[in-house]
Amino acid sequence: MNIIFLGPPGAGKGTQAQRICAALNIPQISTGDMLRRAIQEQTPTGLKAKSFMDAGGLVPDDVIIDIVKDRLQADDCKNGYILDGFPRTVPQAEALEKIAEIDRVIELDVADEALIKRISGRRVCLKCGATYHVSLLNGKTTCDNCGETLIQRDDDKAETVLNRLKSYHSKTEPLVNFYQGRGKLVKIDGAGDMDTIFDAIMKALA
Ligand code: AMP
Repeated sequence: MNIIFLGPPGAGKGTQAQRICAALNIPQISTGDMLRRAIQEQTPTGLKAKSFMDAGGLVPDDVIIDIVKDRLQADDCKNGYILDGFPRTVPQAEALEKIAEIDRVIELDVADEALIKRISGRRVCLKCGATYHVSLLNGKTTCDNCGETLIQRDDDKAETVLNRLKSYHSKTEPLVNFYQGRGKLVKIDGAGDMDTIFDAIMKALA
């Protein structure tokens, strides 16, 4: 099954995608994680993407579409995947239609005020992609999964978060109508507890 997770930054796409991927044994394809790794490794793509990401804007469509095209050709995508953070614009969605058949789009819906609280307290592991909220870490600074030191993403800092929300509403939210028109969208309330949201997504995918 080929699945898209759609939703604003901080809606829980990454966390839920990780759990659903483990349950369905398919890979999670997070364009944000791929770009952060590219920046860390200082690849040409990483160098191109950095200034856009730092400002809370979107990386140009052609850059990101090439990355996803490559990734979807890998062997581990044969039995399905979750796209987490892609597509984020209508041109990206149109490019995706040319290379993949999407079965379901899960929209995680969370109000902006809750997102701002979640994002500003978020700490992430750059090695395995796990995310935590600072209020639940009790001073702990390393990842439970792999022991790596947790960091606050530069683009999770307050001044950038508002730009990211703005770019979600103007550029990504139109995809709700795009996929609704194709009969693929299921909207899930992303404000509840993690297990309830997980169950709702699994039901939507059944
Ligand atoms: P995320 O981890 O999904 O929140 O992505 C972090 C940042 O990476 C975004 O704010 C964008 O700057 C960039 N990014 C990730 N995915 C895309 C995409 N599909 N299109 C453009 N920019 C992206």
